[in-house]
Amino acid sequence: MADTSALVLFSGGQDSTVCLAWALARYERIETIGFKYGQRHSVELGQRGIIREKLARLGETAKRLGADTVLDLPALQSISDTALTRETEITFAATGLPTTFVPGRNLLFLTYAAALAYRRGINTLVGGMCETDFSGYPDCRNETIQTLAQAIGLGLASPMSIETPLMFIDKAGTWALAQTLGGDDLVQLIIEDTHTCYVGDRSNRHAWGYGCGICPACELRAKGWTEWQRQTN
Ligand code: ZN
Repeated sequence: MADTSALVLFSGGQDSTVCLAWALARYERIETIGFKYGQRHSVELGQRGIIREKLARLGETAKRLGADTVLDLPALQSISDTALTRETEITFAATGLPTTFVPGRNLLFLTYAAALAYRRGINTLVGGMCETDFSGYPDCRNETIQTLAQAIGLGLASPMSIETPLMFIDKAGTWALAQTLGGDDLVQLIIEDTHTCYVGDRSNRHAWGYGCGICPACELRAKGWTEWQRQTN
């Protein structure tokens, strides 16, 4: 099958929104998938529909945006004990990994996405994993992702490629990519509608968007924005 369709792992955050815009520029048919796994705050998931609607109005590629699927994975909550799913403080664990780390989460997400993609005749997954500047999540590394793609392809007896357009760029690079893909309109959409704040704050508006401004996700997003502004001015 020609590489004309893709399934995008779309959470409603900045990274997956840029990935969705990237896919819309590249594939003829794009579907999206999201996961509910007992996140403390469903703010991010709530933004998904709004972002999809606005993206669909942004340009020529709008008609390529197809179905959205949200899968419920409550079992993930019962095997994780992290700041994302319990009311515990977000601090760094002794391992050096943030307590927001859900062990193997991306492996599970990609495997579920692959199963859905297979059923829908899609052989490319797109995800916002990035090994450059975040917390060293081992399931975000390129080697992990590409080895998983091989295992999935073997397991399905059908090739499944996993594209990760953000893998080797930093957060400033993600803003720059958004600008390249969709100009000011896309940058504005990302500021106003995407959500990455760990504590679910949408009452504080900063130059880079909504969030508490102090959690690790906000810090990273703000830092990337500042760096991108510095590079472009
Ligand atoms: Zn925050």
